[in-house]
Amino acid sequence: LLELNRIGHAFFGRTVLQGISLGVARQEIVALIGPSGSGKSTLAHIAAGLVDPREGRIIRRYLRHAMVFQDPRLMPWATAADNIGFPLRLARTPRGMRRRLVADAALRAGLLPEDLGKYPSELSGGMRQRAAIARALATDPDFIYFDEPFTALDVALKRRMQDLVIEAAASARFAALFITHDLLEAIRISHRILVLDAGGRGIAGERLIPGNPGSRDDQAVFALRQD
Ligand code: ATP
Ligand code: MG
Repeated sequence: LLELNRIGHAFFGRTVLQGISLGVARQEIVALIGPSGSGKSTLAHIAAGLVDPREGRIIRRYLRHAMVFQDPRLMPWATAADNIGFPLRLARTPRGMRRRLVADAALRAGLLPEDLGKYPSELSGGMRQRAAIARALATDPDFIYFDEPFTALDVALKRRMQDLVIEAAASARFAALFITHDLLEAIRISHRILVLDAGGRGIAGERLIPGNPGSRDDQAVFALRQD
């Protein structure tokens, strides 16, 4: 569904990624971990087409993608409903259908109907992140880029949000590149974990995670699995 071939990138002459190749299959959740500054976010931006890489080739076989960041990036002047519906408005989805899609996505992201009329400042951090996920789900994407979406949340909320992503991925059948610092989160959520080498010099390791919904359980069980 997504294929990166020998991606290389530099900012102001300083190399941040070198010879990175990876693929994500249909409905596959691939976790990307690696040291801070190794270029995970840059790689996701390149894969999503926000940044043009200096080297390499990208093949995207999906129709629509969405992105979820650590900071929910909601427009403070718009209600939760308007934030969630914003990509649909850009796509000129008619108002009635937009309202239905927003309500459905909000429900799947665990927002209450009364939250939809609230402004971001009136929502808790967890609710704001739910709105960001609802905004991603509303367009029915085939692919979602998650960049440390739950890093700022407390442990209990983090777990609920992870469950939400696991359920949404199983029902909406999107594939994802899920960047995280949290190895346990990667093990819970993904089908496969890629470790980006320090300095973005390549994929230092790869582990399949059997046992998760959608995982390829015919593969050998790796020692990484903890629960
Ligand atoms: P973290 O885990 O802290 O989020 P990361 O793996 O996502 O880190 P990136 O944000 O991709 O790492 O950054 C990789 C390197 O590129 C870092 O050294 C960073 O300072 C640099 N960098 C990232 N974006 C830019 C930019 N827009 N301009 C200049 N340098 C940048
Ligand atoms: Mg990052």
